[in-house]
Order: sequence, then structure tokens, then C-alpha cells
Amino acid sequence: MPVTGINPDFSTYICNDCGEQVVLNNSTTIFPPCPNCYGNSFRKA
Ligand SMILES: [Zn+2]
Repeated sequence: MPVTGINPDFSTYICNDCGEQVVLNNSTTIFPPCPNCYGNSFRKA
């Protein structure tokens, strides 16, 4: 399961806590916390 603070794959992730969708592109080097709830647990969309 992807977590924040690591270098993720370029993909779309969904927050496990609130369902917020986070799109990571090739300018993202470190997985950010959820912008909605600051959660750090995601699943791939
Ligand atoms: Zn969230």
C-alpha cells in the first residue's frame, strides 16, 4: 500500500481515510499527505 513520504509511481491514488483523489504526475517526487484530511494512507485508483 502506498504511503506518504516515498517516491511513488505516477498514478492516481485514493485516500483510505476520506476518499479524496490525488493525482501524481512526473513533477511529484515525494508522495504528499492527503490535501483534504492529511492522511498518509492511500490505495491506487
Ligand atoms: Zn484524506
